[in-house]
Amino acid sequence: MCESNLNKKMNKTFHSFLHQQILILLGLSLFPGLGYILLGWINDVIMPALIWYGLVIITSVWGYRLHQTFLHKSMTRTELSLWHQQLRWFFYTLFSLWTLVFLLYCRETENNLHYIAIFTQIGASVVASTLLFSDKKLYIPTLVIMMLPLTIYFAGIQQWYGYILCLFSYVFLGVLLYGANSSNKLLLKTHYQASHDQLTGLYNRSQFIDELQQTINSLKSTGHYAYLLLIDLDHFKTINDSLGHDIGDQLLVKVTERMKSHISAQHTLARLGGDEFIIISPEFNNKEDCQKAAQQFSEQLLKKIKNNYILEPHHLYISASIGINLLSNRDIKVSNFVKEADIAMYEAKASGRDGVILFSDDFSKKIEKNLEIERLLHFALEENEIKLNFQPQYNLSQTIIGCEVLARWNNKKLGMVSPADFIPIAEQTGIIIELGKYILEEAIIQLHQWNNKGLILEQFSINISIRQIFHHSFVEDVKQICMRHHLDVSLCSKVIFELTETVAAEDITRLIMIMNELKKSGIHFSMDDFGTGYSSLSYITQLPIDELKIDRSFVSNLHVNEQNKAMVSSILNLAKTFKLSVVAEGVETSKQLDFLTRKQCHILQGYYFSKAISSEEFEALYFKKKAANLSNT
Ligand code: C2E
Ligand code: CA
Ligand code: CA
Repeated sequence: MCESNLNKKMNKTFHSFLHQQILILLGLSLFPGLGYILLGWINDVIMPALIWYGLVIITSVWGYRLHQTFLHKSMTRTELSLWHQQLRWFFYTLFSLWTLVFLLYCRETENNLHYIAIFTQIGASVVASTLLFSDKKLYIPTLVIMMLPLTIYFAGIQQWYGYILCLFSYVFLGVLLYGANSSNKLLLKTHYQASHDQLTGLYNRSQFIDELQQTINSLKSTGHYAYLLLIDLDHFKTINDSLGHDIGDQLLVKVTERMKSHISAQHTLARLGGDEFIIISPEFNNKEDCQKAAQQFSEQLLKKIKNNYILEPHHLYISASIGINLLSNRDIKVSNFVKEADIAMYEAKASGRDGVILFSDDFSKKIEKNLEIERLLHFALEENEIKLNFQPQYNLSQTIIGCEVLARWNNKKLGMVSPADFIPIAEQTGIIIELGKYILEEAIIQLHQWNNKGLILEQFSINISIRQIFHHSFVEDVKQICMRHHLDVSLCSKVIFELTETVAAEDITRLIMIMNELKKSGIHFSMDDFGTGYSSLSYITQLPIDELKIDRSFVSNLHVNEQNKAMVSSILNLAKTFKLSVVAEGVETSKQLDFLTRKQCHILQGYYFSKAISSEEFEALYFKKKAANLSNT
């Protein structure tokens, strides 16, 4: 435990222990003090006794004010440390006053008052060692102030019993110091454990909230700005699950070391739990500087985190998503500052992870909108608001050979909502299970109807969310639906489930099992948005997939730079090696079409041919094309 550091940054919770002792000590001084006035009256030292008691009253008022300040004022770190200094001086003064009364009465042997004085002094020392043990700088000087005069007094008797009492007093002082020291150590240790994270030694959540509160108090008094960074490691769970918690823990410690080396002494770094860290910056005079510094600082931090980690025998790579929130004297709850940083961090995750995003009010609006979507999505199926559209897929001779089923939601209040907006919400909330099942059934019905009408497709692609495929009844549901609508194996084998890559990391073995089970019914699989996720190569070797869908971004940027062309060519080569068919999606221009045709990309889909259209429109298009093809031949 780093004790000196701990002492430097003691917080209000810690000081509250000392704060509680103020009133007790005031009581122990003011009431017995009255007795000393009486003794002073009996022994004709009433004037000094009254003056002494007057001093006790003045000191008590001081102590009471310190007590009230702590209770009612939200203090900055500097104010708290100033308060602590003053409190020390208050206690020194109070105990010095007891030494003063000892000096006054120890000479009064006439009525044996010296016995009372000696007892009081010993009693006060015990009180000091038991009530002040939380602060070393407090109890050591106080005990010395109390006990030294006593030892001198005993030695001054110049009798053998006086020397023995003097010696005993030293031993007693030693015992009191030892007792206070042990309690002090225990208190610091308990406080450390309650305020620090065991694994990394960083502040934990509760200590962090204290720190944040103090920073906000300070910003309220200075009008300055600071920033808050919420850092969440990307795909840490995968490392934990696949390599074990030991490696996960070691990685967290290494990441902590890197973060520590990046921050200055004025930053506060804490671990909120799991793979989530948080940083509070020092103060800045204005908002612009603060924002710029936050952006720069987090980008450099991210770079540092992303360097390779060697945890023999593993060489690991990890990125992070960082949410920034600016702290100011805004009148909101402390926890809301964290919530906002959290929202920004999730936004960074949603936009592909490995990035930094600054919180802005737009996010709050977006969240409100998402909540509205979530609320209304619950009724979407009941209200029959979800419809299916179909985007045709063409072969190289530009014949429609298949389609992708795309969901459309037309809501009374929100109008048309894009699946890019409502599918992620359906996934997060679990509605996707019911929604996905509905889409699947409607799609299968359509496939069957078309087949009966002579609209013969080679393949029929349906998007399946990972949460949906992992649902315990998914395989059974698929089988039931196929049976209910009398889909024979030949028709079933036209169905392709499109899965996205990022998904596959979660539980590969289980995913493979589910896929193989579905393959028994003839269903095929396609890797959607191929090239954008992680470890693409390892997935295609492990998962039983049949098709790759080149992500739209590569196709639409084909002519922006040579790299995209190279990427598309490599994917096509890769597919050839693994005997997979390839769909290029998002084909919008004839230039893109030319390139893909030259490269022998098997299947094409995009606005160049058609957007996703209703089933009626699809039928019309299909039969029109078919008629045209027939008349051509
Ligand atoms: P996705 O699976 O990558 O689907 C392709 C998206 O690209 C569709 O957007 C499609 O309309 C759009 N697109 C196709 N060709 C072009 C083009 O040439 N240019 C441009 N700019 N865009 C093109 P959509 O329909 O908005 O769907 C968005 C995403 O929502 C889909 O991405 C898919 O991930 C998800 N989604 C849609 N329907 C379903 C569904 O029924 N179930 C699940 N789980 N997800 C769905
Ligand atoms: Ca898709
Ligand atoms: Ca896609």
